[in-house]
Amino acid sequence: RLIASEPIGREEEAQERALRPKVLDEYIGQEKARGQLEIFIHAARGRSEPLDHVLLFGPPGLGKTTLAHIIAKEMGVNLRQTSGPVLERAGDLAALLTNLEPHDVLFIDEIHRLSPVVEEILYPAMEDYRLDIMIGEGPAARSVRLDLPPFTLVGATTRAGMLTNPLRDRFGIVARLEFYTPEELARIVNRSAGLLDVPLAEDGALEIARRSRGTPRIANRLLRRVRDYAQVKANGTVSSAVADAALLMLDVDRLGLDVMDRKLLLAIVEKFGGGPVGVESLAAAIGEERDTIEDVLEPYLIQQGYMMRTPRGRVATNVAYQHFGLPQPKTNNG
Ligand code: ADP
Repeated sequence: RLIASEPIGREEEAQERALRPKVLDEYIGQEKARGQLEIFIHAARGRSEPLDHVLLFGPPGLGKTTLAHIIAKEMGVNLRQTSGPVLERAGDLAALLTNLEPHDVLFIDEIHRLSPVVEEILYPAMEDYRLDIMIGEGPAARSVRLDLPPFTLVGATTRAGMLTNPLRDRFGIVARLEFYTPEELARIVNRSAGLLDVPLAEDGALEIARRSRGTPRIANRLLRRVRDYAQVKANGTVSSAVADAALLMLDVDRLGLDVMDRKLLLAIVEKFGGGPVGVESLAAAIGEERDTIEDVLEPYLIQQGYMMRTPRGRVATNVAYQHFGLPQPKTNNG
């Protein structure tokens, strides 16, 4: 799966870590988020204060985890990492928080999936560096208050709209990560090729970049696969022709859509007359989770203009019909 939202297995996780930029200056693109963070980090350091809590949102693979690590590094503190679904009980979060050192970063991935009880104890922790926990049950139960070291919470989520309002309101810094341009991705691919020692021609880098769904994780993944292809089928150098042949073999088409993208668009076009169609029906038709459609597949397809979200459901646009060489029906409102 090229567009799997998570790293595929331990090996890829290790490879991703190796390619991860360590400081803000190495972080390519995202000018807006990077510019803001640069100022806020600088200011917090100047005042010897922890950085304000940061919420990062955007589709998978755009660099949220990377940015969390960079924030800790630039602040000169440790990073502790966890995720919403892992923190099942209030005690899980309490254990993490009480072990922090002053100004440390606590990174919570998938923060929209925190359970309500855990979220509840996060509020005073974020606001007043205070923990209120209940000990015991029934009439003997009592509440204990613990002071926490000042810390920075960095939360990551695919969609800001999935956070509860009280949680979202407690973040002082909110940064939205955008899809990368082909030029930015070409810089990322070039950087990775340097680290991996892959001979890469300039047009080869751009070819991979153009077909990576605006996403660094996918660009790095495709680079590794294209490298294998170049080694076995060509002289090892990744030219644009070699990249093109390898990507077609991987079922990434010339506009950079992969199998799942095409399956989704074709379902709207062929099974639902171009839409509008509800996301649940679409999920059933292509055998995907609704969340995968909303978090992983459609953000890029919408950004590229292949489909739209309307109040009545998803609609395929002209661009999608053109892509498949199909005539657009007159009734279609895309
Ligand atoms: P997310 O947490 O948003 O899913 P990650 O931070 O894990 O994404 O990024 C996935 C991979 O993409 C990382 O291994 C990193 O090497 C690469 N990457 C992400 N953003 C950038 C960037 N701005 N510059 C260079 N590489 C990046």
